[in-house]
Amino acid sequence: MRERPSSAAAFERAKRSIPGGVNSPARAFGAVGGHPLFIARGEGPYLYDLDGQRYLDFVGSWGPLIWGHCHPAVQEAVEAALRRGSTFGAPCELETELAELVIAAVPSIEMVRFVSSGTEATMSAIRLARGFTGRSTIIKFAGCYHGHVDALLVAAGSSALTHGVPSSPGVPPGCTQDTLVLEYNDCQALADVFRQHGDQIAAVIVEPVVGNMGLVEPTAEFRQELRRLTLRYGAVLIYDEVMTGFRLAFGGAQELYGDHADLTTLGKILGGGLPVGAYGGRRDIMRQVMPAGPVFQAGTLSGNPLAMAAGLATLRLLQRQPPYAYLENLGRALQNGLQQALDTRRIPGRVQRVGSMWTLFFTAEPVTNYTTARQADTRRFARFFWEMLDRGIYLPCSQFEAAFLNAAMTPQHIAQTIAAAEEALDILAHA
Ligand code: PMP
Repeated sequence: MRERPSSAAAFERAKRSIPGGVNSPARAFGAVGGHPLFIARGEGPYLYDLDGQRYLDFVGSWGPLIWGHCHPAVQEAVEAALRRGSTFGAPCELETELAELVIAAVPSIEMVRFVSSGTEATMSAIRLARGFTGRSTIIKFAGCYHGHVDALLVAAGSSALTHGVPSSPGVPPGCTQDTLVLEYNDCQALADVFRQHGDQIAAVIVEPVVGNMGLVEPTAEFRQELRRLTLRYGAVLIYDEVMTGFRLAFGGAQELYGDHADLTTLGKILGGGLPVGAYGGRRDIMRQVMPAGPVFQAGTLSGNPLAMAAGLATLRLLQRQPPYAYLENLGRALQNGLQQALDTRRIPGRVQRVGSMWTLFFTAEPVTNYTTARQADTRRFARFFWEMLDRGIYLPCSQFEAAFLNAAMTPQHIAQTIAAAEEALDILAHA
């Protein structure tokens, strides 16, 4: 493993004043061992660390940077907004412009409220669904992550059909007792739970394509059952598109699949690299949000002009020059190249991908839910991760995270990544 002394020193310093040295745990490289890179700057598809090394960035700040780092249109929009003031605590027209663009992008969204993170978006959507239905129970799926909302920080208990138990100290059982956790893609469990608790279920929240246990696709039957059962029992279907929104298509997973959720949560790309989240959906539901309705939700910096400007510039570019076909082609080439590299070396592994989101799982079987994801060889992944890093490829530092392509990448970058993977897998094969 290459030495990175400046990052190592910066991490030691950070750990003295910041818990674990990071402001979000996924950054700490805990799952792969070793210290994280400290980043000096980003440019297009590249990150540069404190030690002056350049890396091809497949993390993209965990999703927002679909145009890569420092896209001039986004930077200019933010700079222009900054000159007019960073926050007013009063409405500005940029908010309405971005709202109109979101509504144009996602047909199921008739009204939208901006917040400052994905967590705030899902937290608010859950509260709204409960307020709207007058019910308490929510269903989530094991392995899906929806931010650090108390009610959603749950682990499945021992049975398939289970009330959630808190997955973090500090979350009282009272916060999770109304959360049911099911296995992703399990239509039978979903039908069973609706049969037993249907009239108590306020909402089902789901990642329509999962990024947060590594990349996992929904089956068509699962998506259809989600829609059919929520309609039948009057529960709110929440698609958490914080990661997939504006990434899998301009209209997110819902455009890709032709689906129609009741509420959608957004973040990441929506903010163009600045802190933005949003929740939106059916007008009759959204009209319950204060001050239009009684369900409380607020934010000092919600809809601030810098974040709105970054989001507007990013979305306008996506609308005018859609990169989705290009990203699909890059993604397909990468997937094929990596899968072939695994297969020719007889290393059990699967490259799962939808559009520009992908994961190389070190497991032979298809990954369809949390149980099958957990079968992946995380020690092998850790070894692969460091070998790739030493070859200038920056991957998510966990087997259970999706990697992202961005539109600043070229076919040469894909070839470079496959060549690096071939070398790394050669080392793994002989380890
Ligand atoms: N939902 C999903 C699907 C996410 O991937 C994330 C973040 N990775 C969140 C919600 C939470 O967003 P944030 O980190 O902005 O709070």
